[in-house]
Amino acid sequence: MSKYSINLLYLLQTTTMKAFIALFGFFFSIGVYAQTDARIYDIIKAVSAERIEADITTLAAFGTRHTLSDTISPTRGIGAARRWIKKEFETISNQCNDCLNVFYQKDLIKKGENNRIVKDVWVVNVVAIQKGTKYPNRFILMSGDVDSRVSDPNDYTSDAPGANDNASGMAGTIEAARVLSKYQFESSIIYVGLSGEEQGLFGGKGLAQYAKDQGWEIIGVLNNDMIGNIQGVDGVISNRDFRIFSEPVPPTETDNERNARRFYGGEVDGISRQLARYVFTTTKTYMPEMNPTLIYRLDRFGRGGHHRPFNDAGFAGIRIMESHENYTQQHQDIRMEDGIEYGDKLEFVNFEYAKKLTVVNAISLASLAWAPPAPTNVAIGGIVEPSVKLKWEKVQGAVGYKIYWRDTTSPTWDMSRFVGDTDSCTLEGIVIDNYFFGVAAIGTDGHESQVVFPNKTFR
Ligand SMILES: [Zn+2]
Repeated sequence: MSKYSINLLYLLQTTTMKAFIALFGFFFSIGVYAQTDARIYDIIKAVSAERIEADITTLAAFGTRHTLSDTISPTRGIGAARRWIKKEFETISNQCNDCLNVFYQKDLIKKGENNRIVKDVWVVNVVAIQKGTKYPNRFILMSGDVDSRVSDPNDYTSDAPGANDNASGMAGTIEAARVLSKYQFESSIIYVGLSGEEQGLFGGKGLAQYAKDQGWEIIGVLNNDMIGNIQGVDGVISNRDFRIFSEPVPPTETDNERNARRFYGGEVDGISRQLARYVFTTTKTYMPEMNPTLIYRLDRFGRGGHHRPFNDAGFAGIRIMESHENYTQQHQDIRMEDGIEYGDKLEFVNFEYAKKLTVVNAISLASLAWAPPAPTNVAIGGIVEPSVKLKWEKVQGAVGYKIYWRDTTSPTWDMSRFVGDTDSCTLEGIVIDNYFFGVAAIGTDGHESQVVFPNKTFR
């Protein structure tokens, strides 16, 4: 590559520059799939901080969106909030030829289900589905939360603007729908406002069960919970840092699978972790100025979020959120105390930052929804041999496959090789013992599936 750079530099100073660039572009466009997709840059540009600000402002103005709050008032409480979210999704749908299927998915939770359900309540999620053109039953989901709370989790009347927790995630989800609804995708995308989060993750539980009942193949849940705060409680300020939480392996794995991990690896290579790496890599490719951190845990220490019920149901799911939390501004009664302003108020949200994390979601959704399905039955061989071998079943829509590998201590897929449209490959001189390996499918526009970690061996 350095040879080319030197030549290019020289040629740039000559009058033949234009002709060279034309020729250069021509040769490199033949037989090489695109490394980046121009449409992704258009998506990045289209996401609006102003619209996100407007939506967070509207959501915070419902006074409280507590799960147990008023459902009748047109201006206050969770009923008004969910009706407004549904109307927003419907407006978006009207502008894309009814491209969204918008509906409430709800479950009645009975008083005493846990100590935060002090009366019977309908937990109502607002769902908008953008149907895929090629794989309508394969879904990628982006979620925020409808509900909010104050210091006492069961106080459903006090003002709980929940501007950052989690109007930010909700507004980001609505904005992603606005932008992505202008495109068509091969897989389906679900934009959803989940309720009942603060009372015990009820909305996520309900929708995960609904997905199973419908036979949906959910390949990833991007749960956004607090994507608007840039100043940590410790004073650290960054509008580029964010975290991607993912659990190491699915809680649904069998004893056999767990036992196999001891011998074949995979302790840090479950489906949610691959999804986290996917978002990390997509961000680094298209937004290199951002600093995503892969956090190797389900969620913050001892705390929860709405991706978990999807993980419990066996689906890949991650949490995307700010890096620097401010605990005086979450789950707090609005008050002044010892000179500290407590409460999750609008003025603490950085809308430009919420926009950036919305973009992270939008481009990850688009890449995945434009990508072919991941290869199936990925098997690995090469025990007591000098070279590793991989084989897999081809998938419809892939133009080729990419082998990924990495040092066993590395969090990211650092090495890769495109192997074309084949169903097996041998990496000469690469010893199976010293790396972890995976395979991804590549589509016509260069979009890649998630990396699949082998779950079989062969000789
Ligand atoms: Zn919360």
